Amino acid sequence: MRWRGDRQSSNVEERGRSVGKIASGGGIGIFLIAIIVFFISGGDLSTVTDTLGGGITPATYETENVASKEYTEEKEFASVVFAHLEDYWNEEFEKRGQSYQNPTLVLFTDSVDSACGQASSQVGPFYCPADQNVYLDLSFASELANNYGATGDYAMAYVIAHEVGHHVQNQLGITDQLNKLRNQVSETEYNRYSVRLELQADYLAGCFSKYLAEQTYQGQPILEAGDIDEAITAANAIGDDTLQKEAQGYAVPDSFTHGTSQQRISWFKRGYKYGDLEHGDTFNEKNLDLATADHENTRQLAGIFLHAFFQRAVSIIINFTSLNS
Ligand SMILES: [Zn+2]
Repeated sequence: MRWRGDRQSSNVEERGRSVGKIASGGGIGIFLIAIIVFFISGGDLSTVTDTLGGGITPATYETENVASKEYTEEKEFASVVFAHLEDYWNEEFEKRGQSYQNPTLVLFTDSVDSACGQASSQVGPFYCPADQNVYLDLSFASELANNYGATGDYAMAYVIAHEVGHHVQNQLGITDQLNKLRNQVSETEYNRYSVRLELQADYLAGCFSKYLAEQTYQGQPILEAGDIDEAITAANAIGDDTLQKEAQGYAVPDSFTHGTSQQRISWFKRGYKYGDLEHGDTFNEKNLDLATADHENTRQLAGIFLHAFFQRAVSIIINFTSLNS
């Protein structure tokens, strides 16, 4: 991605930065900790926060000098991506006569206090609807690269765009509707809604990528060859089935909260293809795999997502109920 020198968002906040720490813990251990935290918190972390990187160990920087340079670069990159996301979503909401409130990107090290509770880097990047902040430990970038082969700057851009996608869902009232459902359905059932929420965030990250592919900076296209593939590699790496197989050797579909690798890739690509809100209705999509590549579901265009946009999501629960039957 072409980003050096481009505008950085002013809605970026740094908290509790420290350097030179020693890494501890590892894959499966961290995964178990994440699960324990999940249950202790009454399951809240799965939606209030976004356990995008459930099985990922936070990286640390080896020396202060390296840290400074690497950290500064990653911070600047994230701030530029965040600025593009502001431009894009403000524009999209304006087109529809809605106003958009910019989220804040909170960069933290190790752990952070949010309005959704305290979280450690181990849960991965997340969005907290209560304070409208995206929380990100920048060391997640090297974890994606080192543990999951998701290299390249655009892998991280996808992650940030996914989290901002959750903010968009919050602005549209979708998050609220889903939280209300929480006490009304079984955990297994709730997980199915969670998957749809997550895949929609992937779709929105794809929409943003299409927008970015059409932008230039200093006369050159912002996206470079390989950027979209970097996002797809990252989406593949953090699918529930892939993470679970790596952590415990097998996958338990009923426990999925984010979707399989294939689903995450499919919805990201779909967003990248259409770049509109109308094709992102994961809640009414019967086949989340989108296996037959390009079926459009035009009948469903008046479904949950459009309702959300134009009517602030009043009828979402009705759609959920029909999904269950
Ligand atoms: Zn998410």
